[in-house]
Formats: sequence, structure tokens, C-alpha cells
Amino acid sequence: MSVDHCFITQLLDWFAIHSRDLPWRHTYAPYHVWIAEIMLQQTQMDRVVFYFTRWLERFPDIASLAAADEDEVLKYWEGLGYYSRARNLHRAARILAEQGHILPARYETLVKLPGIGPYTAGAIMSIAFNQDFPVVDANIERLFARLFDIITPLKSRENKILVWQKAAAMLPSGQSRNFNQALMELGALVCLPKNPLCSQCPVSLYCQALRLQIVHERPVLPPKKKTIFIQMATGILRRGDNILIQKRHADDVWANLWEFPGGRLKEGETPQQAVVREFLEETGLQVGVTGEITSVKHSYMHYRVILHGFFCDVVAGGKKEPALHAAQENRWVRFTELHRFAFPAGHRKLIEYLRNSSGI
Ligand code: SF4
Repeated sequence: MSVDHCFITQLLDWFAIHSRDLPWRHTYAPYHVWIAEIMLQQTQMDRVVFYFTRWLERFPDIASLAAADEDEVLKYWEGLGYYSRARNLHRAARILAEQGHILPARYETLVKLPGIGPYTAGAIMSIAFNQDFPVVDANIERLFARLFDIITPLKSRENKILVWQKAAAMLPSGQSRNFNQALMELGALVCLPKNPLCSQCPVSLYCQALRLQIVHERPVLPPKKKTIFIQMATGILRRGDNILIQKRHADDVWANLWEFPGGRLKEGETPQQAVVREFLEETGLQVGVTGEITSVKHSYMHYRVILHGFFCDVVAGGKKEPALHAAQENRWVRFTELHRFAFPAGHRKLIEYLRNSSGI
């Protein structure tokens, strides 16, 4: 298929009518596009709109983001996952704050900022500044696999190179903002992963997979990663009206998030035994389990985690003050204060469970 003028016109006409009314499309302010693009990595659009709107109310510009405390930034990201995105946004805002609070319209400068790789830099250059830069996201990869009948598996290096080459070759000069977004939008709304709406597709005449009737065989998927099941246990230790929480190290998984002490079960260990051991290792406190709260499930990437939650007490005569063996900070806080801290998904579900069951 050669991409001709008609393809571009039909795609852009379709986008003009069918594009979703997204908040960052109102002005295409570079800061808005940047925040949206970072949020959209790994996150569904409907969730991003909610988080984006709330984020802009609190951090309307680079200056307000740069001036904020990292704990608060993480709190506004809580629930989106992949927290390095929020930390990098914050770090980049602080760098930009020293350079005039402006997101530069220069690809080479953008890719040097924390959290901005070639994809995001290209997206900002094209969508915010309408410069001629191609963009390839997961929607475009799928769309191209069908349009061009690409047989290299998704996520493979050859596939990435091929798709980026095609995206660059078909980019109409001076129209990259709408063209790139139109491709992404077509993938998101019409060329759906399972049941593409070919009868509504503005470029169906150009689609090789449709012509060959192999739409459901494209894209070729990469080998599936094995699901890894993990069991974890955590404990809520109370002292009067307060609960012990600790802040994870900055170079750890879920860096700088707060949690209740706990960790992964070792082979042959029960969840209760794991909590007791983890408390000792992480805080130096000898605790006993006094009750089971519940077990919550959550998933990230190809991991499936079951987190067992327990109430704990320090054993009689044991040390009362926790040490910092596995965290950078600890605090005793009231249950009603927990909403001020950002927790990983499993711990947040546990808090939610306690809140709904009035179990604390
Ligand atoms: S015709 Fe169908 S498979 Fe081809 S690009 Fe359009 S929606 Fe996708």
C-alpha cells in the first residue's frame, strides 16, 4: 500500500469529526500535553482524564509542580501505578523551573529530561508544537500491522524499526499534530484489538489485512510472558490510636511510597510467620499476629499478587520503638490520616477494606 493524499485526507476528515473531547486538546499547551502523554503510558484514557483534571487543579503549571513536595506529587499519582513516572515529572519540573519554567520546543533537549524518551519527546514535539515528528504507540502498532499486513511480532525490535520507518514516511509535513493523533485515535476507537470496526473505518480501502481477510491474524503477537504468582503478607501494628507506617527507600520498588511493614512469603512459610519475620527484619520489633484482616489481590505487568493483611501487637516485654532497617522513615499516624500518604495498590486496597468494614 502506498499512502497517498486521499488516505491522509480521509484520516484527517475522520479525526475532525470523531476525535474525543480531551482536556489537553482544548489548548495543546505544552505542559498539558506532557502531563497527558506521561499519564497515558500504561494507563487507560478514561482514568487519565480524571487524574489529569485533578492534577491540573493542584499543579496547573511547571512552577507549582516544581514547588510541590514529592509526597504530595505521589499522592496525586496514587492509583496510576508506575510511580517513577510521577517522580520523573517532578524532577523534570524542578530542572525546568531553573530554566525559565518553559517546556522547550526542541527534541534534543526534551529527551534529556527525566522520564522523556524518544516516544514522549516525539509526541510533545508533534502534538504540542506541531513539528514534523512521527509517533508510534500501541494503537498505531496494531493499526499498522493490519494496514500494511506486517508479520513481525509486536514488541520485537524488527517490528519497532519497521513501524517507526512507516510512521516517519507517511507523516504529512505541517500536519503532524492532527495526523499522529488521528492514527492513535483510529487505533483506539475503530481498529480495536479484538473486534475492529472495519465497516466504520475511514481507511478500510487501504487495509491489506481486510483485503486478505486476515484481520484477526494481525498483529502477530509476541510469545506470552508466564504469569508469576506472588504471596505477600503485611501487618498493621497499633499503638493507642496510631498505626505504624514506613516510607520505602528511594532506590527500591515503589520508591518513596508508604506501606505497612511486611514482604514476600518465603518457601514453606505461612503468611502469619512471614509477617512476624518481616517485622523483625524491617523494624527490629518482635510482634505476634492478633487477627486476620483480609487478603487482597492485585496485578501488575505479568505478576499476580495476593497480599494477606493482619493486625499485630508487640510481644510482651519487647522493644517498642521501630528501627529503620528497610525504610527511610517511619511514622505513627491515625487511621484517618492515611489518606494523606501514597501507598502501593495492595496496601491501598487493605486500607479501603478497613475503611468500608470499620475494622479499625
Ligand atoms: S479496515 Fe479494519 S483492520 Fe483495517 S485498519 Fe480499518 S479497522 Fe483496522
